[in-house]
Amino acid sequence: YKAKSTRSGHHVYHSDDDSHGDVRLRTLQELRSAIADDELVLHYQPKVALATGNVQGVEALVRWNHPTRGLLLPEHFLELVEEAGLMHALTQIVLSKALDQAVLWRAQGEPLTVAVNLSAGSLVDRDLPDRIGAMITSRGLPASVLTLEVTEEFLLNDRERARDILTRLRALGIRIAVDDFGTGYSSLAYLRDLPIDELKLDQSFVFPMINDERAATLVSSAIALAHSLGLQMVAEGVENSVAYNDLVRFGCDSAQGYLVSRPVPAEELGAWLADRKVTTMVRGDS
Ligand code: C2E
Ligand code: MG
Ligand code: MG
Ligand code: MG
Repeated sequence: YKAKSTRSGHHVYHSDDDSHGDVRLRTLQELRSAIADDELVLHYQPKVALATGNVQGVEALVRWNHPTRGLLLPEHFLELVEEAGLMHALTQIVLSKALDQAVLWRAQGEPLTVAVNLSAGSLVDRDLPDRIGAMITSRGLPASVLTLEVTEEFLLNDRERARDILTRLRALGIRIAVDDFGTGYSSLAYLRDLPIDELKLDQSFVFPMINDERAATLVSSAIALAHSLGLQMVAEGVENSVAYNDLVRFGCDSAQGYLVSRPVPAEELGAWLADRKVTTMVRGDS
C-alpha cells in the first residue's frame, strides 16, 4: 500500500518512509485509542444560499483532538485511518456525532441540515444505506437532515455498486453531493444518470477566479452545466467578496468558505448563527 499525497502535499505518515516508521507506529496505536477515548471531534462549516445569504446547513469536518499534539486536521491522519482499516469506524463516529448534533440543533429551534463526507472505501459496505437509515430513524430525524458527500473516485471505482448504494441512500430521502467536483474524471453523461443532488465545485477552480478571467468563465460554465443537468452547484473555498459576488452573478446556488465562516465547534456555530440573526435584524430595521 502506498499512501497518496494530500492536497497540501503532506506525507506525514507515508508508509514507504522508513524514517517515519516509529512515528507511524506510535500514531497508529494512538489512533486506535483515540477512537476508544473519544478524541475525534467535529467542526461545522456553514453553507449559505447565494441568492438570500441564508444558512442552508453545515458540513461536518473531523478533527483529532490529540492529547499532546493538539487539534489535528484530516490531512494529518485520514490516510493512516484508511491504511489501518479504521475508516469504517471513523465514518460511524462522525455520522453518529453529526446526527446527535442535528438533534440538539432541532431542540434549540435551529433545524440545520448536516453534510458528512464518505471515503471512497465506504463503497464496499453494502449495509451502509440500511445502517445510516437506522441511525437517522432511531433519533427521530427526517432523512432530509443528512447530505452525504462522495468523491468522483467513489463514483468511478465500481460504477454499478456506487449506483446501487446511492440509489438506496437517496430512496431513504438522503441528499447526495459530489465533493471536489472537477478534480476527477467523471463524465457528464455518467453524472447525469446518477442519483445525485448537488455538485461541490472544488476550491482549485474558485481560488483563481479573482484574478483570472478565464478561471471565472470556467466556473460560470460549470454552474450552467450543473443546472442543465438539474443539479445544484455549491462553490467551495470562497475566501473573498470578489469571488462571492461573481458567484452570485453567475447564478451559483450556494457557497462555503472562510469568507462566510471557517469550520468551528458546534458551540461557536451557535454563537455565530445568533450573531448573524441580530445583524440581519439590525440591517432590516434601518
Ligand atoms: P472537503 O470535504 O472538500 O472539505 C473542505 C475543506 O476545505 C475543509 O478542510 C475545509 O476546512 C476547507 N475550507 C473550507 N473553506 C475554505 C476556504 O475558504 N479556503 C480554504 N483554503 N479552505 C477551506 P478540512 O476540514 O481540513 O478537511 C479536508 C478534507 O478531509 C475534506 O475535504 C474531506 O475530504 C476530508 N474529511 C474531513 N472530514 C472527514 C470525515 O469525517 N470523513 C471523511 N471520510 N473525510 C473527511
Ligand atoms: Mg466535503
Ligand atoms: Mg471539497
Ligand atoms: Mg476534499
